[in-house]
Amino acid sequence: MNAYKHKLPRRRCLLLFLVLMILPLAGCARMNQAEDTELILGTIVNTRIYGKMSRERLDEAVAAAMDRARSLEQIFSVNIECSEINYVNQNAATAPVPVSKDLFTVMERALYYASLSDGAFDPTLGRLIALWGIGTEQAHVPDGEEIAALAGKKNYENVVLDAANRTIYFKTNDFSLDLGAIAKGYVADEMKRLLVEDYEITSALLNLGGNVITIGSKTDGSDWTLGIADPKNPEDTKNPAVLLKISGQTLVTSGNYQRYYEAPDGTRYHHILDGSTGYPAKSGTVSATIITGCSMDADALSTAVYVLGPEKGAALIETLENTEAVFIDDNGNVTATSGIHDKLHEGSLTLKEN
Ligand code: AMP
Ligand code: MG
Repeated sequence: MNAYKHKLPRRRCLLLFLVLMILPLAGCARMNQAEDTELILGTIVNTRIYGKMSRERLDEAVAAAMDRARSLEQIFSVNIECSEINYVNQNAATAPVPVSKDLFTVMERALYYASLSDGAFDPTLGRLIALWGIGTEQAHVPDGEEIAALAGKKNYENVVLDAANRTIYFKTNDFSLDLGAIAKGYVADEMKRLLVEDYEITSALLNLGGNVITIGSKTDGSDWTLGIADPKNPEDTKNPAVLLKISGQTLVTSGNYQRYYEAPDGTRYHHILDGSTGYPAKSGTVSATIITGCSMDADALSTAVYVLGPEKGAALIETLENTEAVFIDDNGNVTATSGIHDKLHEGSLTLKEN
């Protein structure tokens, strides 16, 4: 009896001691970090996430996000022979082709931006893009007649989407799809969705080449500071032309220094084509950056406004809510849409001193 009486308080003491030990530890659980870098969709994809969960759990989350990106590559890459987009390109002029939800979602948005930008962004430039081959080993300056035969077509008006049956149909057989200007954005959105919904990640930075997407803010609560490359020295990531602070948003840049072919005479031909001329766009833009919530939208828009040029491009962006743009033009001038000017006054946008 006595022994029992004596035992209980000791157990309670031990329990109390343990609780007191664990509580403060739980309160200041360490922030862990996991990171991975892989080549997906011809782009270096870097995923960096933070959280109070275990390192193992964070590693699992990064691996799942990378898996999702790789599975989307099998849908969107025109460089993978048996990708879904290549199947559509080979068959959609014969009969409507049933497609995955992912492809249908991106195509719907692609056609929306093609018509919004009056063809500046055009997902049906596949044959023209393949003809130039910029960024591939076949890159060359094509014959003027070959270019003319594929230019000025607005073939996005010949794509028929059937939402009820989820099919894609081509009204004519003289074009093909290339979603290189929008797919990376969708991949970024999907990686973010998976990390937030399946792994409850609240702080992350995903970088897919010119596409950056953030989840929340930095672990100390401050904004992410992102740079827009200096076109004169794009590799020098420590010295960008513009610094921007964002949290939760995406920042997508289309720039003529990102991918180009240098002809034997030294002329550079970049990878963003103007469907109306069939040649690399000459709109006075060196880079166009979009800041908004959805990376797929930002991706399509960055290409569209690159082709439209700083003036027409800014006018288009001003019509869209919660969407901003920064342009660097041929003369090195940096211009921005009105919402960014406000941020500039708040000190959230820092223009680099010359
Ligand atoms: P981005 O880097 O997002 O501007 O996309 C450029 C890529 O999209 C190119 O490498 C092509 O695959 C494709 N592309 C080129 N010009 C256009 C255009 N005007 N509209 C849509 N896609 C394009
Ligand atoms: Mg784009």
